[in-house]
Amino acid sequence: MILIVDDRPENILSLSSILKLHSFDVDTASSGEEALKKTLKTDYSLIILDVQMPMMDGFEVAEFLSGNNSTRDIPIIFLSAVNTDKKFITKGYTSGAIDYIIKPIDPDILILKVKTLHTLYEQKRALNLAQQSLKAEVEFRKKAQQQLQEKAHELNSILASIPQVAFTATAEGVVDFVNDHWYAYSIVISNFPQTHPDDFNFNTGWQQLLKEEKMVNKELRIARIGSNDYKYHLLRIVPVKENGKLVKWVGTFTDIDEQKQAIKSKDEFLGMVSHELKTPLTTISGYVQLLDAVLEDNENKEFANKALVQVGKLDRLVNDLLDMSSLENGKLNFELKPLQFETLLNSTIEMLRLINPGCNIIQNGTVSATVNANAFRIEQVMINFVSNAIKYSPKDKPVEILTKITADKRIYFAVKDQGIGISSERQANVFNKFYRVPESSGYAQGLGIGLYICSQILDIHGADYGVESEQGKGSLFYFTLPVIAPKG
Ligand code: ADP
Repeated sequence: MILIVDDRPENILSLSSILKLHSFDVDTASSGEEALKKTLKTDYSLIILDVQMPMMDGFEVAEFLSGNNSTRDIPIIFLSAVNTDKKFITKGYTSGAIDYIIKPIDPDILILKVKTLHTLYEQKRALNLAQQSLKAEVEFRKKAQQQLQEKAHELNSILASIPQVAFTATAEGVVDFVNDHWYAYSIVISNFPQTHPDDFNFNTGWQQLLKEEKMVNKELRIARIGSNDYKYHLLRIVPVKENGKLVKWVGTFTDIDEQKQAIKSKDEFLGMVSHELKTPLTTISGYVQLLDAVLEDNENKEFANKALVQVGKLDRLVNDLLDMSSLENGKLNFELKPLQFETLLNSTIEMLRLINPGCNIIQNGTVSATVNANAFRIEQVMINFVSNAIKYSPKDKPVEILTKITADKRIYFAVKDQGIGISSERQANVFNKFYRVPESSGYAQGLGIGLYICSQILDIHGADYGVESEQGKGSLFYFTLPVIAPKG
């Protein structure tokens, strides 16, 4: 928009009609004061200013405009009929004008000048805008970079202060920061600490570890520089994501050697104690069986029977402890052979009824098929499932054994009880070592190792297994084994 400032209405009229004819937007002011007021509200691209005005003349207006930040860049064309003198023209230019036209006006010249100045102003304005947004962008980037640096610095100070060996790596896995503890294990940032030859190898396995972009926990042994004394550490690598995109890895090596040694000592102790218990227990068991056989069918025989049941329980407990110790040493080995599942099932149920005379054990379903299994170990699993079902149920509730052949040719064995049940969030843990559902601890005693041993035995058999349960409504423990041939 162009502002015409003149105290004479006829001048304004003729000028604005020329400009409008060339499609310019025009605004007018009849005095210097009015012009100044208008410039405060409107952004003009050009001001055509009459020099000769009462009160405030054109030079004064131009001086005001050039002294104000928001108006100093507006081009001004002075119009004058009188001050053709060179000194007035010079004054016009020094007070902020860009051009000076002497009346009478030649409309063509005026339009040419207006067009040029208008275009120049628009270009300058566009340039200013671009410069401003560039400036803002640069500022934004500077700030973001500074924030990032501060964040990295903060993270590094935290990592430097912790007792673990700590490092960060780029999203691609290149280590880019290590704390001081690192240098006790590696001379340079680019080499990971030396691991035990039997453990994880960083050179071949590092990229594989990061592949899933998930937190990794890995136990491995590392040795200090110049030492062959490898100590157990827990390597934990945590991905750092921003808006779902992986930006960094933060890793730590925590010394867990003492815990590992303590667990090892405990396992060794358990193994030793159970081994020592086993021999006298076998002797006691033999003598009680002998006693049971020679006694007449009277009250004394009943006592011997009760002793036999308790010795049987003790025997299973000691066997579990021995199995645990074998598992820890990786020595729980047994052979799998083709066996008639139903024969094993029937004999196991018979034995279970014998040792649990007060319990109603219902058998449901038959299976005529051969599986590749270890009879002793599968029997151990079945006894464990049934014993638990009895242990965690009220005395008067039956325990049901369900068997069938599934559509995908597997033997399905399940034990269903109407006992205390297991809440869904606890179910995932029941096959873990030493895990006991807290609510059940008050109900019956136990060590929490029976199901763990079962899971290891079933794993060796390639079996599927699990639990279905609802708290307060009973549980169903099951396993399935592939059938190798129908009963032959
Ligand atoms: P425990 O010696 O404690 O019975 P297990 O390893 O056999 O050890 O079982 C682990 C835990 O699973 C038990 O402590 C108990 O909390 C839960 N559990 C196992 N079987 C049942 C069941 N049939 N009903 C309810 N809880 C069970």
